[in-house]
Amino acid sequence: MLNHNWRGALIRRLLLLLAGCLLLGLISGEYAWALAFGLAGYLGWHLSQLLRLHKWLRERQEDEPPPDGYGLWGEVFDSIYHLQRRDLRVRGRLQAVIDRVQESTAALKDAVIMLDSQGNLEWWNRAAETLLGLKSPQDSGQAISNLVRHPRFKEYFEQGNFHDNLELPSPINDRLRLQFHITRYGNREHLMLVRDVTRLHQLEQMRKDFVANVSHELRTPLTVITGYLETLLDNVEQINPRWLRPMQQMQQQAGRMQNLLNDLLLLAKLEATDYPSDSQPVAVDLLLLSITSDAQALSGARRHRLQLQADPHLKLKGSEAELRSAFSNLIFNAVKYSPDESEISIRWWSDEQGAHLAVQDSGIGIEAKHLPRLTERFYRVDSSRASHTGGTGLGLAIVKHVLLRHRGRLDISSTPGKGSTFTCHFPASQAVRRH
Ligand code: ADP
Repeated sequence: MLNHNWRGALIRRLLLLLAGCLLLGLISGEYAWALAFGLAGYLGWHLSQLLRLHKWLRERQEDEPPPDGYGLWGEVFDSIYHLQRRDLRVRGRLQAVIDRVQESTAALKDAVIMLDSQGNLEWWNRAAETLLGLKSPQDSGQAISNLVRHPRFKEYFEQGNFHDNLELPSPINDRLRLQFHITRYGNREHLMLVRDVTRLHQLEQMRKDFVANVSHELRTPLTVITGYLETLLDNVEQINPRWLRPMQQMQQQAGRMQNLLNDLLLLAKLEATDYPSDSQPVAVDLLLLSITSDAQALSGARRHRLQLQADPHLKLKGSEAELRSAFSNLIFNAVKYSPDESEISIRWWSDEQGAHLAVQDSGIGIEAKHLPRLTERFYRVDSSRASHTGGTGLGLAIVKHVLLRHRGRLDISSTPGKGSTFTCHFPASQAVRRH
């Protein structure tokens, strides 16, 4: 509507100019000159308005209103002015939103860090400076692995699987324990949240220390009790027959307690460090041979048929003692939870994915609902059955810990009544092939 009006006014003005020129031509008799003169004047006026607009656009201060324009130029000045005002208002609102977001993240106690797809720092809040020691602006654009130099962080970041959190000491203060949580967003960029979990870690540490200390302290009295019971039972003929059975039971239960304490102490030891101290290639085939013969002894009169198939050239980097306790837990469980004379097969092999150990039995099996919780401490499918087999309920928890320390994982598949297969998977980087 406005456009239309302006177009009309413009045409009217042009016609008026032409009429003026014609009149001048009529008076002077020089039509061509009069027209040229009139048009030159008109062009000059437009140029002067354009120059005013240009001057205003270049030299204007913040929010300075445009000079008064005439006719269409005045309209153009006003429209540009309004557009600029609107732009300014939108920018102001956006800035306010950004300020609020920055203020709230700055007030967070947790560190928030934005990294690009390469892992270079883009933005971080104040807590990131106190927790990780990032310095603004020097560290902007730096690779995060240069600033958090812990080897486990590097490994965690490079493998790109951020499903689990990572816990590490702070790079600037050993006493601070930090939990790293990374999420990918947008164009493979990373959002990293870092929480201070020092207190939780201390509580966890207290719990571990307590269990380790109690287990350690209980060991000595228990050794004395079992020692005396053993000596007494060595001279059965001197014991009142009424006391024989209770004493045998005492000895059996004391043995169970000893196993429990040993398992608790082993778990405490496994939890104390992230990785085993030694990582020599272990000859798994020989280790399995020795465990299999122990398992055959454990089976005794139950005469399980143990089949061993192990690749003799395939070794595994790690601690032999830890691997022995993990593998023997799996193999002994197969013996404990399978019927007499049933077959148990043990296989150690490698493929493109890495090295694998499978222990397969044709025993009682485990219902699917128990599988996710099986590696929890003291978790038992059936407590009456467990006390019958003399288990501690810590075996699979030990297996899980040992595998974690060897970068492996445990996979359990089972069909009740048919049997179970416990498979340990190790990455190819842990395996060593020798001919
Ligand atoms: P436990 O010392 O009681 O054997 P574990 O941690 O080794 O404790 O095992 C936890 C539970 O898992 C056991 O109580 C048992 O019910 C079940 N389980 C373990 N291995 C087998 C298996 N091969 N077949 C059936 N059940 C098993």
